[in-house]
Amino acid sequence: MTQRTAGIHHITAFVGNAQANADFYAGILGLRLVKKTINFDAPEVYHLYFGNETGSPGTAITFFPFDGARRGRVGGGQVGVTTFVVPVDALAFWEERLTKFAIAFERVQRFGETYLRFQDRDGLQLEIVAREEGPESQWSFGGVPAYRAIKGFGGAVLYSMAPEQTMHTLEHVLGLERIDEDQGLVRFRAPGELGNLVDVNASVMGRGRGGAGTVHHIAWRAADREDQERWREYVDERGFQPTPIVDRQYFTAIYFREAGEILFEIATDPPGFARDEPFDALGEKLMLPDWYESHREQIKQGLPPLEIRVLEEDVQ
Ligand code: ZN
Repeated sequence: MTQRTAGIHHITAFVGNAQANADFYAGILGLRLVKKTINFDAPEVYHLYFGNETGSPGTAITFFPFDGARRGRVGGGQVGVTTFVVPVDALAFWEERLTKFAIAFERVQRFGETYLRFQDRDGLQLEIVAREEGPESQWSFGGVPAYRAIKGFGGAVLYSMAPEQTMHTLEHVLGLERIDEDQGLVRFRAPGELGNLVDVNASVMGRGRGGAGTVHHIAWRAADREDQERWREYVDERGFQPTPIVDRQYFTAIYFREAGEILFEIATDPPGFARDEPFDALGEKLMLPDWYESHREQIKQGLPPLEIRVLEEDVQ
């Protein structure tokens, strides 16, 4: 029996200041903050989830912001570039928008597509590509109307310490299809409509160092809890050492490090972010899992203030 992921579920990165993080991903990129919670393993740190209107699988970029965090170094053993996808005719809009916010970008060509490549405030490497596939976001914010908005992930570029083995894992464990090669990158495709095109840098990269501006892990989609149990067994049988299934409130997860040293997670599509607050109020309140609820006041006091706001450049 073969297992096949639909594609990327979410990508999680370390950053510095929480307000700067929110201003960049909500204020400039126009994503919706769909969940404001804490790092369940370190409750003094926020865990912020940004995505489309519901943060559906394949759209959620998540952060652990920690003021004064040491900068990391992007390199081998990490997701090197996180790719967002926008509607086909929206690239010019995004060029203008990045220019308006004085964000330096370059145009990169690969696999016959044009990418706008830039960095966030912490040096996280991002890019935007325009494609037909994938449902449009229903979220408008600040200067970003829904019909121009980021739909979710287009994919990612993986920087591996052992590219052959990483590619083998993508193909023979996660079930992606190897489809193309271009300029030292090998492209894999998953069956989903978002987060479905994953490129691997085929040469070994210098080892990265975790810290602000680097991706901590990439999560792949499992259909449901039953599928997750199959995944755990499947990954285990193939010689990886997955963690037990962990409850992350909005999905359940397993984690394992692949041979190229990139931390992989497999996360369930359900229940999603509307599990504990209504759609209209997503991301507004600090949400805590039950086991932290009795410490709410103390936890709140330890967290910096955070506001989702329209930035000056977008105010007429
Ligand atoms: Zn995760």
